[in-house]
Amino acid sequence: MMIEIIAQESAQEFLRRARQNERVAHAYLFHGPEGAGKEALALLATQSFFCEKWHAPIAAPQAATISLFDEPVAQPVAAPMAGTALACGSCSACRRIAEMTHPDVRVIFPRTASAGEDERTEVLRSLASNPYRRLKPWENPTILIDDIRTLKRELGMTSYEGHGIAALILEADRMKAEAANALLKILEEPPAQTLMILTATSLDGILPTIVSRCQPVRLLILTRAQINATLQNKYGVSAERAQFIAKLANGNFRRALDLLDNDVDTRRQQAVAFLRMAFRFNKPVEQMDFLNALVREHDRRELRQLLEFCLLWVRDGYVLKAMSASPLAVAAIINTDQERQLADLIKNLPEFDFPGVIVELEFSIECLDRYVQPWLVLMVLLHRIQQLSGSRK
Ligand SMILES: [Zn+2]
Repeated sequence: MMIEIIAQESAQEFLRRARQNERVAHAYLFHGPEGAGKEALALLATQSFFCEKWHAPIAAPQAATISLFDEPVAQPVAAPMAGTALACGSCSACRRIAEMTHPDVRVIFPRTASAGEDERTEVLRSLASNPYRRLKPWENPTILIDDIRTLKRELGMTSYEGHGIAALILEADRMKAEAANALLKILEEPPAQTLMILTATSLDGILPTIVSRCQPVRLLILTRAQINATLQNKYGVSAERAQFIAKLANGNFRRALDLLDNDVDTRRQQAVAFLRMAFRFNKPVEQMDFLNALVREHDRRELRQLLEFCLLWVRDGYVLKAMSASPLAVAAIINTDQERQLADLIKNLPEFDFPGVIVELEFSIECLDRYVQPWLVLMVLLHRIQQLSGSRK
């Protein structure tokens, strides 16, 4: 099974050239925005490392022949790869990598210390079933020092199949100093025949000494058109829905897949209800009840989604207000069917500080990502929106 990558042609071409010229680095660092396909590309690069088509056919042991002139014997040359594929996708190695059953591939990802074996297997299974949506079941996970130590031991052993060992370290930016230093030691003296691939959203969260030991490969944010086309062609989504989800996904394919599962309309209505609640400052009990129910009924991921919908809504309002005289305004917004409500909001709250609220929403989403208590995040947010709404107390 071939790992399918959405776009990222230049990153793929870079890796393919390295493979073709036998200049594969010991360690790569795939970095780029969330949902760009770093983990999918890491799997494909791993397939490429092991793919049987890249390995010279193993010559049958020959009877020792004595050459008088000690001339070099011509080596059998591997057939060149067809087309530009990084891996064939169909050999036994490629297949087992896609299924996460290759004995010489290690995958390390952030988890909690108490995470059970079952949960970890489940995560690997999700990666195999779709590398764009690996499960992330834990709150505030990190890459554990124990996992890096185990990896170090394993890299010191010989590989099962004689073609080396590949280690994937996903979300390498979620690593504390202790684990990072242990990883650095491995990178400083990489065992022969080892391929290490780190992935990270940003290089900022990684020790510069680690970054400098890796070959960085940058992945670009996906375009709306790429997401739209993929949803239609690979996921059978209708043109209209694909277009809408592609807009909402904002370059993040993982989010696009999340949205696919969700009832987008319900979420949008919830976002409107949440924003409305900010103006209920004279009803504190009602606000509390609303928040309590929201936090009780939704997990962090869903609440994040809710805030993203709020963000889209407020952004649309801002665009409409800024472009009010232009007929292009409606085309520029995402919630096109809610233009009336947005216009009302602009009219009723002339002082509404759109940029200020956008900043607050972005900050709240970041807080949720950093595992701050959801209830607290939402409570502070409501209060801030209320302050920025310009409505009279
Ligand atoms: Zn293959």
